[in-house]
Order: sequence, then C-alpha cells, then structure tokens
Amino acid sequence: MIPYGRQEITQADVDAVVAVLSSDFLTQGPQVPAFEAKVTAYCGARHGVAVNSATSALHIACLALGLGPGDRLWTSPITFVASSNCALYCGAEVDFVDIDPNTYNLSPVALAAKLDIAEREGRLPKIVVPVHLCGQSCEMAAIRALADRYGFAIIEDASHAIGGRYRGEPVGNCRYSDITVFSFHPVKIVTTAEGGLATTNSDHLAERMQLFRSHGITRDTKLMTMPADGPWSYEQIALGYNYRMTELQAALGVSQMDRIDAYVARRHEIARAYDRLFADLPLVTPFQHPDTYSGLHLYVVRIKPEAGVDHRAAFEALRAAGIGVNLHYIPVHTQPYYRDLGFAPGMFPEAERYYAEAISLPMYPTMDDDALTHVVESVTKAIAG
Ligand SMILES: *Cc1c(COP(=O)(O)O)cnc(C)c1O
Repeated sequence: MIPYGRQEITQADVDAVVAVLSSDFLTQGPQVPAFEAKVTAYCGARHGVAVNSATSALHIACLALGLGPGDRLWTSPITFVASSNCALYCGAEVDFVDIDPNTYNLSPVALAAKLDIAEREGRLPKIVVPVHLCGQSCEMAAIRALADRYGFAIIEDASHAIGGRYRGEPVGNCRYSDITVFSFHPVKIVTTAEGGLATTNSDHLAERMQLFRSHGITRDTKLMTMPADGPWSYEQIALGYNYRMTELQAALGVSQMDRIDAYVARRHEIARAYDRLFADLPLVTPFQHPDTYSGLHLYVVRIKPEAGVDHRAAFEALRAAGIGVNLHYIPVHTQPYYRDLGFAPGMFPEAERYYAEAISLPMYPTMDDDALTHVVESVTKAIAG
C-alpha cells in the first residue's frame, strides 16, 4: 500500500536519538529547549513551548488565553477533531464557521457574517482557531482585522503547515495571531513520533503555557506567592497537566528540522507533477492562494460533480489498487459526539459539499517516480470509471 503520508528517518536521526539514550537526561534536559529554539528561530517567533502532541498544545493555548465555561471557541468544520475538542476540555462551547469553496479553509467572509450576528446576540467568541488545511495558510490579514474589531484571540492550528509561508513570512511567526500550534505526528511534515509545539510572541502566554505543560508547577521565584521553605521549594500555582515532550522526541525533532525546507520543496515538486498529470481529468486540483506558499502536508483533489463519478466507488477503487488514499476530514459537526451537542448535517453546506467530493492522495517527500506514476494511472482509471 502506498501511504498518503509517511515519515523519513535518516541515520542522522537515529544517531541523535541513540545519543540521548546514553545521556544523563531522558526528559527535562537540554534537547527540548534546543528543539524549541530551532523551531522558533525557523519561524521567527519569540517563544516556543514543546509538548507531547498538538492536541496538548491546543489545550494549553486555550488555557493560557483564559478560555473557560461560558466562553466560545470557533473553528472550521473541516479539521481534525482536536481543533475543537480543546475548547470542550476547558468547559467552553464550540461553534463552526463554514469553509471557503476554493481554499477549503475557514472563510473570512462567513466569519464576518457570523460575527455580525453574534455581536447582536451577545454571543461573540473568545477564541477563533483558523486551521491551515493541507498546509496552506488561512487568510490571516482578514481574520486579524476581524479580531481587532470584535476582540477575539487567534490560535492558528498549523498542524499541517510548518515550512509554509504567508505573505512571504513563515507560518508560526504569530504576526497575525496570539499563538500558533504545530504537530509532529509522523504523517505531518517533520516528526518527533508524537509531539507538538506552540509559538507565541507574548512573554505572558509563553509563561502560562509552560506552567500548564507541567502540572502548574513553577520554581521561578518571581512567580512564587509564598516565601521559599528551602532550596527544594516549588509551588503549584495553577492546575496543569503532564504534557511534556521527552528528550528522545526533541532530539529527533532537532535532527528532522535540518531537512524541513528540502521536504517542503519535494512536496511542491510532487504537487506540480500531479497538477500537470491531472490537468485533463474532471478533478479540482488544489487552489493555491497567491498570498501563500503551502507546507503541502496534503494533496487533496475534488471530483467534479458533473463528472458523474461516484466518490465512494472511486475511493474504494484506489484503495483496491494499493493506494492508501484518505479523506481529510469528516466534518467535525457531523460526528456523533458533536451531534449530541446539538450540531446536525446541513449546518455548514460548503464543508459538506467538500466532504462529498474530496480525496487525499499520497504526498510525502520520499515518494518516488514509480509510486507517483502508479497513483496517477490509478486515479485516471478510477475517474474514467
Ligand atoms: C494532526 C492534527 C492535530 C493533532 O495533532 P497531534 O499532534 O496528533 O495531537 C490537530 N489539528 C490538526 C489540523 C491536525 O491535522
């Protein structure tokens, strides 16, 4: 089976992880700060807080921004469930904003319309989470302008987008947002096996996220509220979690980050080949907004409805041909857990139309020409019927 995505592990990666195994620290040593420094230098952000997953990063980002019961978080329905679950962890409410029909990202037009209604009803969100689907940045300048007008915070879910750019600058620099979250799951662009990282330019938010990552415990005398009993002293000043990244994971991440630009460049080569080879098929290939350079985590095609091709049959034919196609994503509001919260099919029509047509094709940097040819021939056959 040709997977839709997979990691590359080099000898340098193996050596970096093995070196940690025989070092003094398996956790809470120098590798995590080194990884944070490498990612923040790459993105141009002031702070980075590494954790054990992007899901954890989203959770501590919400906590640091003070999200709680009675608050609302809005995100896109076309995302992984973690983008909205983070609000539920905090006891807040979730709502969704429909997608743009071209980029498949949260639509700034739909967002503006929904904010206008919410303001009149006194139900404005505290946080909006734009998700950079497939690695292509959302239209952040427009979303920032709305945040300034309506007073919400922004967490960019950039789980797909490390290595991508918006208006010439790296995703993750937080020019338009309070916090940006990355994922280092093996299907993503660079990996730490499991792992996530939140960037921010705010000293306060960084300090809060560091607390929530590790039990709410601090040894920083500036943060302590009582005189120290002795040199062993520490204080728990918030209710935190154990969301720490291990030294092994961080060392893998440091090594992987050396190849990020080459990985993204290779993804663009594959995408250009797909674009060219699919040009005559009744498929919508990924639209790239001129303000963006995508990290290209995913290459999603949509089967044009007028092609008269059954979406599910085409998907099954591709799986049968040994291609590990996938569908990113089932609209979150249609998941049973979310239906129990009051959501229902029909609420976000662009998202649901996308879901009825989309297929994610294999896209990973070690994909070779034979695999690419097999995918293109199989897609051509599946679409021809
Ligand atoms: C993968 C992913 C996550 C969660 O990442 P983990 O590191 O697996 O927790 C969150 N949001 C999006 C959009 C993702 O693709």
